[in-house]
Amino acid sequence: MTDAGRCDECGAPRTAGLVACSYCDAPYPGMPDGVSCPKCGDENMASRPRCARCAASLKRSCLFCAMTSSVGLAACGHCGELFEGAEQRKAERDEQLRQQQLLGLAVQGLGVLGQVAAGSGGARGAFGNGAPASKGAPSKGGAGGGLFGEIWDDLSDAAMGKK
Ligand SMILES: [Zn+2]
Ligand SMILES: [Zn+2]
Ligand SMILES: [Zn+2]
Repeated sequence: MTDAGRCDECGAPRTAGLVACSYCDAPYPGMPDGVSCPKCGDENMASRPRCARCAASLKRSCLFCAMTSSVGLAACGHCGELFEGAEQRKAERDEQLRQQQLLGLAVQGLGVLGQVAAGSGGARGAFGNGAPASKGAPSKGGAGGGLFGEIWDDLSDAAMGKK
């Protein structure tokens, strides 16, 4: 660093925070790799949150984890998701998630329906409503078939002292 104040190439005054001359794009000697400003293209020091020249943000926020990373990074520094095509991937993933949730709801719904069906089926069998009433001897009291009929028969038999 012979002349800290001026560009070696064009002699323009250095802009603090940049790693290359904003006039001729010559890199300042001894500077680390910079981050190009997405707006004006100047090479900023990677640690800067904003462009030293146009004040555009040099951070971008991750669509996936909402943390901010330097625009010089290809992927989120927090969750590792690539910034390139992030919007599309996010949309696709949201859609997948939505479909999984829908599927989950559908499966849950089917499960509930199945339980209801099994429950009402069992009840129907137990109370003889609509179940085939072909259980042994025809009931005397005409109380209907099924379990009720049998219980009724038992009760009436017991009442008449036949058992
Ligand atoms: Zn220059
Ligand atoms: Zn800029
Ligand atoms: Zn992230």
